Amino acid sequence: MDERRDPEPPTGSRQASAGRGKLSPPTAAWNVYVQHCRSCKPCKDIDQACPDGARLYELWQGIAARALRSIARGA
Ligand SMILES: [Zn+2]
Repeated sequence: MDERRDPEPPTGSRQASAGRGKLSPPTAAWNVYVQHCRSCKPCKDIDQACPDGARLYELWQGIAARALRSIARGA
């Protein structure tokens, strides 16, 4: 009896590089925001405002919204 087997992904393919390859734009933007917040004193304090943190958060929101619109269009 023949057993169907999925072929091995070619070296360097997207699957083979998962986990160490390029992040999606929304994930990359979120990582930048989180990394900023981890090292920024005003971002850690709920009583303070951080313009850089706010800007990075808004940047992520914009990128994520574009990605969702792209998915909704079926692109
Ligand atoms: Zn900050």
